[in-house]
Amino acid sequence: MSETENILENCTGCKLCIGECDFLEKHCSSPKELAESFRDGKHRSHPEIPYSCNICGLCEVRCPQKLNIGKMCLEVRRQLVREGLAPLEQHKQLAEALNWNESDAFKLALPAYNDCEAYEQTKGATKRAFFPGCALSACSPDLVIKVYDYLRQKLSSTGIILGCCGAPAYLVGEESRFQEVIEGLESDLAMLDCSEIIVACPYCLYALKRNLPDHRVTSLYSCLEELGLPEKEKGELHQFSVHDPCSTRQELELQRSIRNLIRQSGHEVVELEHSGEFTQCCGLGGMAFAVAPDQSAQKARRTIKETEHDLITYCASCLGNLSSEGASILHVLDLIFGESWQDKRVSPPADSAAARENQRQLKLRLQKRAEASKAPLH
Ligand code: SF4
Ligand code: SF4
Repeated sequence: MSETENILENCTGCKLCIGECDFLEKHCSSPKELAESFRDGKHRSHPEIPYSCNICGLCEVRCPQKLNIGKMCLEVRRQLVREGLAPLEQHKQLAEALNWNESDAFKLALPAYNDCEAYEQTKGATKRAFFPGCALSACSPDLVIKVYDYLRQKLSSTGIILGCCGAPAYLVGEESRFQEVIEGLESDLAMLDCSEIIVACPYCLYALKRNLPDHRVTSLYSCLEELGLPEKEKGELHQFSVHDPCSTRQELELQRSIRNLIRQSGHEVVELEHSGEFTQCCGLGGMAFAVAPDQSAQKARRTIKETEHDLITYCASCLGNLSSEGASILHVLDLIFGESWQDKRVSPPADSAAARENQRQLKLRLQKRAEASKAPLH
């Protein structure tokens, strides 16, 4: 049964899902009514409606029937793409960004051993690959390199793959484009001959866990918790509130790891009303910002209002949206690996040109190091 049929059949109209969702409040009096409008094809003349949902899953955890309106909106988006009615004009920039992330300007796969000429001899020596993702790479090449070096110091057989998990295509409903991206990643992993991928971005974790069934997909943060933190002088105790990205809603272990990492860094966590399983989307979820920028900004402001403390998150995209609405926020990796988060924080790139330049620099720096080092790294 499709989710649309599920909602048509099982939504009781209790409205428990509506109060916390700006999208539902704006577009329907009940999810059943929305499902009826989709069933009757009304979305064809208003395609911006299914594209305004953040696909964040909060409705599912609030709903006594466990109905997921985001899942229904994704089904409808895929249908629009199949019918040639989407992507919309507003999605053009997303497609361009994905194409850039998948181009040779950024994409890279390096084995654990930097001596590429001896790669045939060291085949099988790359046991895992670090996948920082496109958004973190666009924020800070320095931070990505620090994390990668730490992983290699602790786990010498770690290579690196630069690229995108295909989220923009997946969320817009472009199934074949998304499959192309996944196949590209599979071929990078096959080339490196490794069975595990360690991901920094929570959405990459969500997407790759579901689409790389033959690989172990591990969160960087659980990995860091296991490996222990790098030695660093502990600063003054600070209280942080954690913004959990909506893609981690079901990742309770990961959420616990993040809090442990903050505490191990010598700080305290003050929980938001909406956190963990009940987290609010930062506003960027589901690529809704492309068609509903005001709603995205409103969501970010809602999270910011929930705390008087500095925020910490573990998604570079959430960092960007919350920061653009005035949040005092930092990435948990900055807390762990940064010199002094109070004086100099990693901040989101000013625009897409700055993002691309950071990504390009990251690739060049990694390539240069690989060329300069002819001895295997131990
Ligand atoms: S909470 Fe569930 S049953 Fe209640 S209105 Fe929302 S979708 Fe329908
Ligand atoms: S997935 Fe999120 S944005 Fe979409 S209807 Fe559910 S709660 Fe609202």
